[in-house]
Amino acid sequence: MFRLKLHWQILIALAFAVLLGALAGTEHALFGIRYYDVFNFIGTLFLNALKMIIVPLIISSIIVGIAGVGGTQGLGRLGGKTILYYFTTSLVSILTGLLFVNLFAPGIVDGRPAKEFLGLNAEQALIAAEKVGDHGAGDIADVFLSMVPPNIVQAAANGQMLGLIFFSLLFGYFMTRIPKAMADNQHVFWQGIYHTMMKITDFVMKFAPLGVFGLVAKVIAGIKPEQLGELASSLGMFFITVLLALATHVLISLPLLLRFIARVNPWRQYSAMAPAMLTAFSTASSSATLPLTIECVEKNAGVSNRTSSFVLPLGATVNMDGTALYECVAAMFIAQAYGLELGLVTQFTIVLVALLTSIGVAGIPAASLVAITIILGTIGLPLEALGLILAVDRILDMFRTSVNVFSDSVGAVIIARLEGEQGILQTT
Ligand code: ASP
Repeated sequence: MFRLKLHWQILIALAFAVLLGALAGTEHALFGIRYYDVFNFIGTLFLNALKMIIVPLIISSIIVGIAGVGGTQGLGRLGGKTILYYFTTSLVSILTGLLFVNLFAPGIVDGRPAKEFLGLNAEQALIAAEKVGDHGAGDIADVFLSMVPPNIVQAAANGQMLGLIFFSLLFGYFMTRIPKAMADNQHVFWQGIYHTMMKITDFVMKFAPLGVFGLVAKVIAGIKPEQLGELASSLGMFFITVLLALATHVLISLPLLLRFIARVNPWRQYSAMAPAMLTAFSTASSSATLPLTIECVEKNAGVSNRTSSFVLPLGATVNMDGTALYECVAAMFIAQAYGLELGLVTQFTIVLVALLTSIGVAGIPAASLVAITIILGTIGLPLEALGLILAVDRILDMFRTSVNVFSDSVGAVIIARLEGEQGILQTT
């Protein structure tokens, strides 16, 4: 029987979501039940289902993958390539953002800082006087502390992915250092869990169109007319700057890497990853999307579990190109809007802190906002300035999260190819 491909189903659901969400708003109701609540219910159910899968999927996937890498050397090589990829693409992404925000200067209207138009009134003198806070340093150190969780059950319960990943990496590695009979047993056990989790992911994915509908309809229904007004005026330029920079990264920089390093056709990558990218768009969470990212990378792109289980869970928390770019553009925009002198040193600081914080932020909605406050603190801007961008943050979050997920998947493909894997992206 003819069946529409999943990404088309999701796209159609998206279109319906925009239409019905806009019509329903937050107030319309049927028999006393608000449509908004119905959207919320459907969306939350889907999100919960995705989150439910994460902990056992990550743990089993990493353990199976790492135990299969075989020895310190293989792991070191894989780790080295992965970190190099994360670092390079995040940096390229931030620099793209920096270029666009300097070109378009969205925080400057008619040659004057846009602060006045945007209704903020913190005194410039006060801003200049504000010292480079120790705020930034403390928060970044916390990220590294959370990598070694004192209690893994608590880490799992609180969604501290880095801690879980670190523990699972150790577990997978040392599993290969125990007597063979015991190790073999465990291997079969964890593999069984991993395959079961993938089957559950398959099942949940069938509901993606419905879930996406609920999530997006809720966002659209919740948009207030004033927000549209703001978007049309002062924030419009900021919005466009972010979108253009993100598009450049996804449509030019990453495809170039795919073409010249992985030697695969970028179009195939888009097609393989479409369900995951659309889910990332609707959930605005790379962590919640992780099960689908793994599924698409392994089943559609053909990357081995050995590579994907290492690159993807780590990437979902550590490699956030879209987020890093957004942090840079947002901080620069706010600095421009406040009339801050944006010399080379300030810009370099923004790039550096954006890079570091993008590693630390969790893959959850609006996580960038925390990172942006760190940047603002570091360059001496008041934290309230964040209020400037809140009106458009959610929509931009959807776009940047898709970019985050796409970059992780490109990393998996590139590293798999560098590891000599064959047959990647040949059969989608
Ligand atoms: N929502 C993003 C993610 O999950 C993080 C952020 O930029 O806020 O990837």
